[in-house]
Amino acid sequence: MAVPKKKTARSYSKTRYTHYEMETQKRILDETNVVKCTECGAPKRSHTACSECGKYRGRQVLQEKKAPETTRVQA
Ligand SMILES: [Zn+2]
Repeated sequence: MAVPKKKTARSYSKTRYTHYEMETQKRILDETNVVKCTECGAPKRSHTACSECGKYRGRQVLQEKKAPETTRVQA
């Protein structure tokens, strides 16, 4: 059985694995669909209600942050 001659230093291992970390982060960013809200233009995740204006496909589904109670639409 092959045995490594020297212990692999932690800094060396970590340096090597930075490439995997970058790839993972890039993949997460690519897979997370962040789109612009059609109502207010704020970045939001696709297929979810906008956290800024609370609208989804032109319909008010969430209560706005600063809006009064009367603007809430019953689903
Ligand atoms: Zn919005």
